[in-house]
Amino acid sequence: MSKIMIAGIIDYSSLDFPGHICAVIYLCGCPYRCPWCQNADVALANSEVCRETEISEIIKNLKEIFIIDSVTVTGGEPLIQKETFELCRRIKNETNLLLKIDHNGFYPEILQKFLPLLDFISIDIKAPFNEKYGITAGKSDWENVVEKVKRTCKILANWSGNKEARTTVVPTLIDENEIIEISKIVNKYKFSIYTLNEFRAERTLDKKFQNIMPYSYEKMINLGKSAKKYLDADNTEIYVVTSKKGREKI
Ligand code: SF4
Repeated sequence: MSKIMIAGIIDYSSLDFPGHICAVIYLCGCPYRCPWCQNADVALANSEVCRETEISEIIKNLKEIFIIDSVTVTGGEPLIQKETFELCRRIKNETNLLLKIDHNGFYPEILQKFLPLLDFISIDIKAPFNEKYGITAGKSDWENVVEKVKRTCKILANWSGNKEARTTVVPTLIDENEIIEISKIVNKYKFSIYTLNEFRAERTLDKKFQNIMPYSYEKMINLGKSAKKYLDADNTEIYVVTSKKGREKI
């Protein structure tokens, strides 16, 4: 019987899988240490919220949630645990649910193995492909991180499934210039969706970020409009997610 470290399962979400009602499974651990991380308890695999759980138990729970048509496997970073492959394989083989993974782009070779199982993937493009990426991800070896995220983007460019790129817009790290540079990357690799997520200051990994105010709703919408100028409207839809109005197409 295989076990996997999870921080919890949400039975119902209308926000985590575009166009679907999904359960959300939070897997523990992450190779990054984004200072602004809003899931610090989950990213730190040794935190109290993480517990070993039988994969069979998770599958049984999913089958009992009749309202959902899909599952989002998120984290932390789902691909850091080798057991995640078995979890995804069993979701695909033993349920009728669509499967989405949220991924931070750090494991291109592992991701390749998962693609036949996936209906949708969201990956983080946290910053432009320069030193800023290391600062935003809390990694000093930024060249290594960027090289891996680029390889992930190239793999996904050749994959025909639905793929979303996402950026959390963290004031002090990400502003209009960064959003423009990231939009060019999103356009180059032909993501079908680009989503800008509002920063939330609760429970960040680095407590200094708890004193940073999110950008206003108006600023988020303007950043979405700036991004749109650099995206091919035939390939990529753009969305902004805010606490004020939820997910909005720009
Ligand atoms: S925000 Fe960064 S540290 Fe937190 S889970 Fe995501 S990739 Fe990991």
